[in-house]
Amino acid sequence: MSSPLFSFDNSYALMEGMSVPWQPAAVPAPRWLHLNRTLADELGLDADALASDEGLAVFAGNRVPEGATPIAQAYAGHQFGGFSPQLGDGRALLLGEVLDARGQRRDIAFKGSGRTPFSRGGDGKAAVGPVLREVLISEAMHALGIPTTRALAAVATGETIRRERPLPGAILTRVAASHIRVGSFQFFAARNDTERVQQLAEHAIARHDPALVGREDRLLAFYEAVVQRQAKLVALWMSVGFIHGVMNTDNMTVSGETIDYGPCAFLEAYDPQTVFSSIDTHGRYAFGNQPGIAQWNLARLAETLLPLFHTNDEQAVAAATRVLDGFGGHFDRHWLNLHRLKLGLRSDSADDEADRALVNELLQRMHEHHVDFTLGFRRLSAVLREAPRDWLVLWGDQPAVAGDWLARWQQRLTAQGEPAHEVAARMDATNPLFIPRNHLVENALDAASESGDLRPFERLLAIVTDPFTERSEHAPAALPGTPEQTQGYRTF
Ligand code: AMP
Ligand code: MG
Ligand code: MG
Repeated sequence: MSSPLFSFDNSYALMEGMSVPWQPAAVPAPRWLHLNRTLADELGLDADALASDEGLAVFAGNRVPEGATPIAQAYAGHQFGGFSPQLGDGRALLLGEVLDARGQRRDIAFKGSGRTPFSRGGDGKAAVGPVLREVLISEAMHALGIPTTRALAAVATGETIRRERPLPGAILTRVAASHIRVGSFQFFAARNDTERVQQLAEHAIARHDPALVGREDRLLAFYEAVVQRQAKLVALWMSVGFIHGVMNTDNMTVSGETIDYGPCAFLEAYDPQTVFSSIDTHGRYAFGNQPGIAQWNLARLAETLLPLFHTNDEQAVAAATRVLDGFGGHFDRHWLNLHRLKLGLRSDSADDEADRALVNELLQRMHEHHVDFTLGFRRLSAVLREAPRDWLVLWGDQPAVAGDWLARWQQRLTAQGEPAHEVAARMDATNPLFIPRNHLVENALDAASESGDLRPFERLLAIVTDPFTERSEHAPAALPGTPEQTQGYRTF
């Protein structure tokens, strides 16, 4: 007998009424798309054992691994502003929890593993394209240092699933600090089940904020911790041009990890109004709206927790409001410091308002002149290396517009008194050269989905998971698509 693939240590399943035991559906012809060996190591799993036929059967949902008691989790959520009291894992399953190599509890979950009691009209399935999109983008986010769920494995199922056209099916195995969402709290609050809201909150505190356990004010402190994590997370998104695309409350975790890579994409030409998702017809989740939406979602979380904050309604609302009002300040501070890093500026003894204005003026000009967000920051270091043309060329026939901003930035840097090459090196370790470019992502997904050719996917994954290192053989992948490739781009 070989040893089990996973040592499960489940805590969520023990809470009554928050999930139902469930099994993945069997699939006809599993085939590997991806196995993340680095992540397997981090989780303390045996990557060679996972890469076996047994591992393939497990990741396809055809064999429930020894010791697993999979569950489908219940949750609710505001979708595009409208409340659905009954969502839940409609095509996902929590296989179980493991303690990783650092002792951190991590969820291992399937997406696309078949219908569950929460599927409503859906088929419970996922397609190869969206599954590989999630692998590419979530792993790129991780490489950029942004808290995110991870992709452990992806397998094709051999099934054809019905969407607008027939598509090959797949299952993603996702790893998360937890799957506790704002919508998880809303599920029980909508049923006036304050006891379960409290149970869920205590569980989340033990898991994500153990330092608060036993404190009398722990519930409000937990809420504040979630507010702070989300403020930091969304500032990080904004610092790399990430557009989540479907910031419904069921897609917001209390752990502060990015979750649900459905219609997400990275900005190319800088424009805060950018939307890539065709279902977001009103631009609710446009790039520039993300901080406001995060705060709106956090208000929905507060509503579920109010009865736990204080027995007196008025005092509970006052306490929650005070915490929620802090979101803007936390976000602004993270945003400014992240953009300072992008510009090579130190924050100690600096003038916040002057630096904020400097960043905003650059962004405004980038917007007006359709400058690529990623390269607009990355190539600034070339200016410090006496190669300003690399950056100026991004401004087309209007380099003068950028020139006077450049002079002010350099003045600010001079005042900092550091050698230019040191600043440039720091900037290159902060501003990615490679993001998942939309046209490359589409090419990779099309090749995998339509002809089973995984090479473009593998090549792109290697590039975006090493986003700061310049390599001549990867140079074309740093460039935005041509206008024909990017016009009217839609992710979903
Ligand atoms: P999302 O927009 O991905 O956050 O999903 C919203 C809800 O729809 C969640 O409860 C999902 O589980 C559910 N869902 C999405 N796609 C499917 C599907 N193909 N079958 C069943 N449920 C689904
Ligand atoms: Mg979702
Ligand atoms: Mg989704």
